[in-house]
This record gives sequence, C-alpha cells and structure tokens, in this order.
Amino acid sequence: IFILAIESSCDETSASVIADGKVLNNIVATQSVHEKYGGVVPELASRAHQENLIPVVQEAILTAGISKSQLSAIAFTRGPGLMGSLLVGVSFAKAFAFSLDIPLIEVNHMNAHILAHFIEDPKPNFPFICLTVSGGHTQLVLVRDHLDMEVIGETQDDAVGEAFDKTAKLLGLPYPGGPLIDKYAKEGNPKAYKFPITRMPELNYSFSGIKTAVLYFLRDQLKENPKFIEENLADLCASVQYSLVEMLLIKLKAAVKEYGVKEVAIAGGVSANSGLRDTLTKLAVEKGWNLYIPKFEYCTDNAAMIAMAAHYKYLKGEFSSMDVTPLAKMKI
Ligand code: ATP
Ligand code: MG
Ligand code: FE
Repeated sequence: IFILAIESSCDETSASVIADGKVLNNIVATQSVHEKYGGVVPELASRAHQENLIPVVQEAILTAGISKSQLSAIAFTRGPGLMGSLLVGVSFAKAFAFSLDIPLIEVNHMNAHILAHFIEDPKPNFPFICLTVSGGHTQLVLVRDHLDMEVIGETQDDAVGEAFDKTAKLLGLPYPGGPLIDKYAKEGNPKAYKFPITRMPELNYSFSGIKTAVLYFLRDQLKENPKFIEENLADLCASVQYSLVEMLLIKLKAAVKEYGVKEVAIAGGVSANSGLRDTLTKLAVEKGWNLYIPKFEYCTDNAAMIAMAAHYKYLKGEFSSMDVTPLAKMKI
C-alpha cells in the first residue's frame, strides 16, 4: 500500500510517500519569502504553495520509485492552519485522488505532529504524554492510541514558538527567530537576566507576558545604552530561552504527576530547541521517565508525519468525502 501525503498548512510545502507504514521520503520546500516581513504573510504563503506543490509531489513519487498509478490513497492536512495555504493542498489532493479514482484521507496537523514519533524507532508506548510545542500551538496531550488523543492542557494566549519568534523580533533577529535564539543562547548565561515565569491554573500555559516583559526591559536598557542588544545578545537569548523552557517543564512535570504516566514525548517545531532537549533529557534521567524526542526533520512541518497519520487512518478505513473543506481551526 502506497499513500502520498501532502502538507501545506503554513509555510512549508511538503510531500511524502509511505509504503505499508514505512516512510520512504520527506520532501520539504521551505518558503523564504517571509523572512523580510518578520512573519508568515498568508497570501504569499498560498502563492508559494501553488508554485512548489507539484514539483514537491513529483519528487516524492519519483524518489519512492513508483508511478502514480500505484498509489492507494492521497492524504492531506485538513487543518489547523492558514486557510489559503490549506486550500492549495486540499484542492490538489482532491483533484489528484479524483483523477486516480482512489480515496482521500484528511489529517489533523496537530495529531500528525505527535505521530511523527512513529516514523522511526524508538516509539513511545501507550499511554504517553506529549508536549506539543509549535508556532501556533502549545499543548499537553494524553495519547491513548494513534488516533485517540486528548488535550489536557494548553496555552491560553500565544504559542511558545510565537513567544520565541516575537522576542527574537524585539532583539532584531529575522523570522523565524526561534532557531536563532537557540543558536545565540548556546554562548550566553541563562541566569543573566530574569524574565517572568507565568504560572497558569491547572495544566495551562500563557506565553504572552514574556514578550511584553522583554519589550519594556529592552526599552529601558536601550535608553542607557543604544548598543545594549548587540553587546548582550547571547545572554538575552539564553535568559529568554531559560524562562520559556522552565514554563514548559513546570506543567509537563505536573501532567506526568497527575496522570501517572512515565512515557513522555515532545513534538512540534520548538522541540528542535536544544535548551529544551538538554534540560528535558536531564530531567527524564532524574525522574525515571522514558523520553522520546523526534529527529529534527520530523519536528518542524513535514509531510512524513501526515503520511504516518494517514497510514493509521487507512488501516481503520477512515476516508474523507470529495466535499471535504479545510479548517483553519481544528481540534485534535
Ligand atoms: P502549528 O504546528 O501550531 O500549526 P507551525 O506549523 O508553524 O505551527 P512548526 O513548523 O511546528 O509550527 O514550528 C515552527 C516554530 O518552531 C517556529 O515558531 C520556530 O521559531 C520554532 N522553532 C524551530 N526551531 C526552533 C529552535 N531550535 N528553538 C526554538 N524554536 C524553534
Ligand atoms: Mg514553518
Ligand atoms: Fe506545525
């Protein structure tokens, strides 16, 4: 069984072919047009998807060593994401499935970020707790089975990736700033500056406070020293990252305690963050957790994770009808 999967929810155009649960490839075209705007421009994203989608799909089919007539289903990201971006992928998937007369499989992007853990070994055992940290979401998810997940806590405002990107912007770094904060933080002192650790009730998060705190802190410092940022960039990045990682881990620890589950995973773009990876790795040893961290290429948006989700849906015969529409907001 060969399934072609397409991901186009934000600013990555990606295609992947999966054969009986084994991912054969993961072709990703990253859009660079957004860099100069300091964030993803939706209209430019959908235009870039239109340009990139067919070449990306062709490469996925070619490198899988199959012809399109061998495909058994077409999978696509239905949501959540940018409406214009999703529409390109959904429309293409429908047309392709219709022309080949094969079924369509819709995939929830947040579900797929978690299922990225099933692309390669070691795979987490059920039930496990997954901290999904991405550009648009921050969720603690109790994963009972591949397709049985429950959000047990989430951010009430900004996502942690957004907090990384927005503070990076205040520091004058280009979009996406998360990876750059990570890079500079490696040479900095995480205790140099103290940024707030917001504690929300239950297993929820709030990340909007930190950008305001950084904004006012920088405003005051820059009055005294216009070169404050460039002279202290590494310490600033390390301190911001420290607060963000602390906030993530406080609730993760609480979730593990509350649900008595010691299988712990992270997913989403921010799980590429080395501060989070290192601190969490130490914490897992200390607490006796089995920790699962996906490979970098499967942390940020990619079609391999969509293909993985589609594989499980195919096994259950969960197909979509031809009148399926994208959803900008979509619950797990
Ligand atoms: P969602 O999945 O919620 O729809 P998204 O698809 O845009 O959002 P991802 O592609 O999963 O999100 O992740 C992108 C985010 O990950 C960006 O905010 C980016 O800055 C952040 N990110 C990527 N690498 C790192 C890193 N090393 N450190 C911190 N943040 C990072
Ligand atoms: Mg992206
Ligand atoms: Fe994503």
